[in-house]
Amino acid sequence: MFFEKGFEMHSEHLMNTYGRQPVTFVKGEGVWLTDTAGDRYLDALSGVAVNGLGHAHPKFVAALNAQIAKLIHVSNIYQIAEQSALADKLAALSGMDRVFFCNSGCEANEAAIKLARLYGHNKGVDHPEIIVMDQSFHGRTMATLSATGNRKVQAGFEPLVSGFLRVPFDNLEAIKTIASHKNNVVAILVEPVQGEGGIHIPASLKAYLQGLREICDANGWLLMVDEVQSGIARTGTWFAFQHAGILPDVMTLAKGLGSGVPIGACVARGVAAETFVPGKHGSTFGGNPLASAAGLATLDIITEEKLRENAEEVGGYIRQQFLSALKDEAGVVNVRNAGMMIGIELNKPCAELVKQALAAKVLINVTSEKVIRLLPPLVMNKHEADELVGRLAPLILNFLKASA
Ligand SMILES: *Cc1c(COP(=O)(O)O)cnc(C)c1O
Repeated sequence: MFFEKGFEMHSEHLMNTYGRQPVTFVKGEGVWLTDTAGDRYLDALSGVAVNGLGHAHPKFVAALNAQIAKLIHVSNIYQIAEQSALADKLAALSGMDRVFFCNSGCEANEAAIKLARLYGHNKGVDHPEIIVMDQSFHGRTMATLSATGNRKVQAGFEPLVSGFLRVPFDNLEAIKTIASHKNNVVAILVEPVQGEGGIHIPASLKAYLQGLREICDANGWLLMVDEVQSGIARTGTWFAFQHAGILPDVMTLAKGLGSGVPIGACVARGVAAETFVPGKHGSTFGGNPLASAAGLATLDIITEEKLRENAEEVGGYIRQQFLSALKDEAGVVNVRNAGMMIGIELNKPCAELVKQALAAKVLINVTSEKVIRLLPPLVMNKHEADELVGRLAPLILNFLKASA
């Protein structure tokens, strides 16, 4: 498409589901995006944890071009070589057994929820229930918004899907209490690090996940981790559960897996991996040759360029640099990170910082009202990280001063 310089692509014919910023990007390169006026922006959001490779990564573009020229789509009623190869690779990286491919995070979680219910019915539980967390986010479909721990996501869409029991995040005792008096629970669904809820990291991710694993083992429940945001090297390990040295029974993936080509995955192990049989679940597009090639290229490039290690190192560096730039500032509650999932929590709502940052040519997000959320491309280097801190820290300090 051709755009006049400075043109904003806006249409009255789009449904009003997003409050959009008044900017239209036309191209990207690495951690930079260029708008219609030719202005360059530092991307610290990655399309919400999607563009881990940055934009227009040459190897990724070449892999996609080659696949598009060969074969974009065939039905899942045939063998798909790229899909099989991607399943093998995900199994090898995660220690899990089998993968179902779909097109998004909510679909991956739908698959997990269906799998847990079927697992329950297969062992004679008539009304299976799944434990979910406060402040969680699992998607916008009816089942996943019902599992989500945020009233705003649910309001207006009642009746909700039943069969979810909600407990506080990072609280094993609440779950043990349920285990002691309920016999129809079949699974726990949890984000190891909560993303949309405000970058909540358990006090000890290791102890929390190990504790959940023990409770699930003792009760015959499935441990299901939603790694739609935390997976694919985002937290410095391939998957966040690997910080705890445990294996879940089910893991869901999406955002970073296809670097922008829509793909989701429900990954399972042991009895959970054998639960679905033909006729129980499916997807027209899921794991088609193009999407699978995108997933394969993404995993290869992350490995070759050591982006997992980079996410750990540069993520920690960004946190340190913000800590020193914002020190002595009472309005900053804390700065936390798990690799390149970074949250800066302020003591007041700060949504207006998104617009101020846009004016300073840096793309950020505010979630849970008071938390500045940064999800930089995994390729971000320290020089670019310095640029990010240099642009954003003064805005935060001014914002706190002006609103004091
Ligand atoms: C984004 C997200 C989802 C939903 O993914 P979609 O692709 O938007 O459906 C689910 N779970 C978590 C943890 C997410 O961050």
